Amino acid sequence: MKKQFAIIGLGRFGSAVAETLVKHDAEVLAIDKDETKVKALTDRVTLALELDATDEKALREAGVQNVDVAVVSIGENIEASILVVMLLKELGIKEIIAKAVNDLHGKVLSHIGVNKVVYPERDMAQRVAQSLIKPEFLEQIVLSPEYSIVEMPAPAFLWEKSIRESNLRAEYGVSIIAIKHQSIVNGEKKEIWNINPSPDDVIHKEDILVVLGANSDIEKLG
Ligand code: ATP
Repeated sequence: MKKQFAIIGLGRFGSAVAETLVKHDAEVLAIDKDETKVKALTDRVTLALELDATDEKALREAGVQNVDVAVVSIGENIEASILVVMLLKELGIKEIIAKAVNDLHGKVLSHIGVNKVVYPERDMAQRVAQSLIKPEFLEQIVLSPEYSIVEMPAPAFLWEKSIRESNLRAEYGVSIIAIKHQSIVNGEKKEIWNINPSPDDVIHKEDILVVLGANSDIEKLG
C-alpha cells in the first residue's frame, strides 16, 4: 500500500514537499485555507482541500487521521502552526514534521511532540553561505555540527593514486565513500558511480569524491 501523507499549508515549502512526494508515488492530501493555493495544486496531488486546519471537525472529515505522516508548513502564523500540531497529535498521527520560522517556534513545536522540526530558510541560507566560503565543495550534507559528507573534485595530490596509497583515513581521518568517474562512452560523457570503492581503486584527475569525516579534516583536503 502507498504511504499516505497530509501536507498542511501550501506555501512554497509545503507545495514543493507535496509535489515531490507525489513524484515518488505517495498519496498526498494537501490542505490550505486559501482557495488559490488549493487550486494551484489540485491536479498535482491525490486530493487538495480548502479548509481551516485549526478546525478539528474539518480535519476529521477530510480523513487526516488516516495518514501515516503529516507535514505542517505554516510559518508566519505561529499560533495556527502550534494549534494544528496539537490537533494532529489528538487525532493520533504518529509522525509529524513541522516547519519553524525561528528557534522559539521550533522549541515549542518539539515540546508539543513534533518528531522533526525543519527550518527551510535557515538551512538554505547556511548551505548558500557554505557554498560561497568553500566553492570546491559541490554538495555538503551536514551530519552534526562536527561531521559532514562532502562531494568535491579529487584534489591534485590524489590523482593516479589508489585509495590505499592515498592513506586518507590515516593521514586526514577522512573516508572516501564513493567516487564519481567521468568517462567517454561512444563519444558521450558519462558519469560512473563507484559506491563503496575498494582500497585498490584508483583516483583519476577528473573524478569527484564523496568523503565522510570531521569538517576540519575535510577542509584540509580542499
Ligand atoms: P512559504 O515560505 O513556504 O512560501 P508562506 O510565506 O506562503 O510560506 P506561511 O505563513 O508559511 O506562508 O503559510 C503557508 C500556508 O499556510 C499559506 O498558504 C496559508 O494560507 C496556510 N495556512 C495558514 N494558516 C492556515 C490554517 N489555519 N489552515 C490551513 N492553512 C493555513
